[in-house]
Amino acid sequence: MQEFSSQLQQVLCRIALACDQVARKQDEVQLLAVSKRQSIEAIVAVYEAGQHDFGENYVQEALQKIQLLAHLPLTWHLIGALQSNKTAEVAQHFAWVHSVDRFKIAQRLSQQRPQHLPPLNICVQVNIDNQDTKSGCQISELPDLVKAILPLPNVVLRGLMIIPQAQNYQAFTQLAQIRQQLLGTIPALNSQVFDTLSMGMSDDLEQAIAAGSTMVRVGTAIFGQRT
Ligand SMILES: *Cc1c(COP(=O)(O)O)cnc(C)c1O
Repeated sequence: MQEFSSQLQQVLCRIALACDQVARKQDEVQLLAVSKRQSIEAIVAVYEAGQHDFGENYVQEALQKIQLLAHLPLTWHLIGALQSNKTAEVAQHFAWVHSVDRFKIAQRLSQQRPQHLPPLNICVQVNIDNQDTKSGCQISELPDLVKAILPLPNVVLRGLMIIPQAQNYQAFTQLAQIRQQLLGTIPALNSQVFDTLSMGMSDDLEQAIAAGSTMVRVGTAIFGQRT
C-alpha cells in the first residue's frame, strides 16, 4: 500500500513542476485519480495518502465502489461514455460527469438530479481530432449544445473535456482556445463557473498543464497497470 502513496506523491510532484515551468499556480490544477479496474483496497490506500477525487469509466463498476466506500468523504467523477438508461443512477451518485456529449444526456441528468444534492457538475466532451471510435460532440456542434445546456436547473456546465490521440499535444492548446471563444461569443457563460479544462493523463499531463489544463485524469501513474 506504501507504493500507492509514493506514486501519488510523484504525480503531485510532476504537476507542481509542470505548473512551475509555465508560471502557473499549483492549485490551478486538480488531480483526478482514475480508479477504473482498480481494487477497493487500492482506492482506500490512495485516499489515505490524501486523494479525495476519483474518476470511473463504467457506471456499474463505479456504483459498487461508491456503495462500498460510502463511509469515506470521496468525490466521484464519471469520465466514461454514458448511455441514457444509466443517467438516473449517475445523477444520484456522482458529483461530476466529464463525458456529456449530447443534449439529451444533460437534460436527463438535470431532471434526475435529486433535489437535496447540489447541482451536478458537467463537462462537455469534445471529439477534438475526429476519431470515430471515441465519443464526444463535434466542435461545430459545441456552441448550440452549450447554449442548450446553460438553462438546465440542476446541472452546472463547468467546462470541456477531451481524450485526444496519443501525442496530439496540439489538441490541448486547441481546447483552451475553444473555451476562450465560447466565453467570447456566449455572454451567459461568463456568469457561470465555466472554469474547467479536463485534459491530460499519465503520459501527457505536462503538455496538458502547459496548455491550460485545470484537471488532469491520472490512472496508471498512481495505481499501476489495470487488472
Ligand atoms: C483510463 C482513463 C484515464 C487515465 O489514463 P491513464 O493513462 O491510466 O492515466 C483518463 N481519462 C479517461 C477518460 C480514461 O478512460
